[in-house]
Amino acid sequence: MKTSEKTAVTTLGEFRLVNRLAKTVELKQPSTIKGIGDDAAVIRYEKAATVVSAELFLEGVHFDLTYTPLKHLGYKLVTAGISDIYAMNATPRQILLSIGLSKRFFVEDLDELYAGVKIACEHYGLELAGGDTTTSLTGLTLHITAIGEAPEEKIVYRSGGKPTDLLCLTGDLGAAYMGLQLLEREKRVFEGNPHKQPHLEGYDYILQRHLKPEARKDVMEALAQHHILPTAMIDVSDGLASDALHLCRQSNSGVRIYLERLPISSETFRMADEIHIDAVTAALHGGDDYELLFTVPVTLHDLLRKELPHVDIIGHLCDASEGAYLLTPDSQAIELVAQGWRS
Ligand code: ADP
Ligand code: MG
Repeated sequence: MKTSEKTAVTTLGEFRLVNRLAKTVELKQPSTIKGIGDDAAVIRYEKAATVVSAELFLEGVHFDLTYTPLKHLGYKLVTAGISDIYAMNATPRQILLSIGLSKRFFVEDLDELYAGVKIACEHYGLELAGGDTTTSLTGLTLHITAIGEAPEEKIVYRSGGKPTDLLCLTGDLGAAYMGLQLLEREKRVFEGNPHKQPHLEGYDYILQRHLKPEARKDVMEALAQHHILPTAMIDVSDGLASDALHLCRQSNSGVRIYLERLPISSETFRMADEIHIDAVTAALHGGDDYELLFTVPVTLHDLLRKELPHVDIIGHLCDASEGAYLLTPDSQAIELVAQGWRS
């Protein structure tokens, strides 16, 4: 759609704009007593603790609208918000979404953004229960509050890991970072020559991992189904190295991670080769993976292997005095250091 055909936000005003967004929301959660429309949402969970988390996305820092479709951005914002709730072993139920908009944005742009939010809400069984809308002088600012519930005794903290516990990881690492590198490369080519078409074919997986990541609802549910309660858990959003360090420090433990066990997709390797980056570096420090990193007692090894074969056991916790190291196949020990790229 051409900009001249779009509707300025000021022609609707905040009230009508919010009304328009609210119309797309269906209230289905029994725990949402009041959603959009009053001064505050009202939520009631029966016999459960409330788990709340926030995530801030700034244009130019966390996303680039030259290659990020607004619909994907809406979806990714929800993924980022609720990934933290799953990482507590809790179930997200409601989100609050706040936006700061500069004059560059039109009503139709918001429709796109909220279409992505809606798809994510349906996919994860969430409800948009409110938010705030304001003008901003520069760019687009997005903030999400995710709210969920869990029986208090089932909440998993970063701090519960014990030396000898197995360190487990869902999915694979570094792909979102490689997707970002690909998009940045094609953006530079385009800026140099606007007639050149971007070369994105054959890289569906890494692009999807950057543009439309998923939160690991499935793994959280599978763990519950097989009565596996992790001792500690964190979501990997700032790179494995940094997030593994958070987990083991809060668990007052050291850690050993085996390099050859790091799950890395073939597309990640291919892209890393093309741009002369070490794929393992991307896996350790890339960020935006939204996978779950958790520990279980070593006695659950066989059960985990049998019932959750897609979860990788990448290492184990050890005594804090033994430090945090990555072990290579030729028995070198590389100290883990945090250098996530995301601020
Ligand atoms: P207040 O002036 O009390 O902040 P608003 O007029 O900002 O109230 O909001 C009215 C209702 O619309 C509230 O229920 C609020 O949660 C909701 N709302 C405002 N902006 C958004 C948004 N961007 N997305 C979803 N709900 C929103
Ligand atoms: Mg308001």
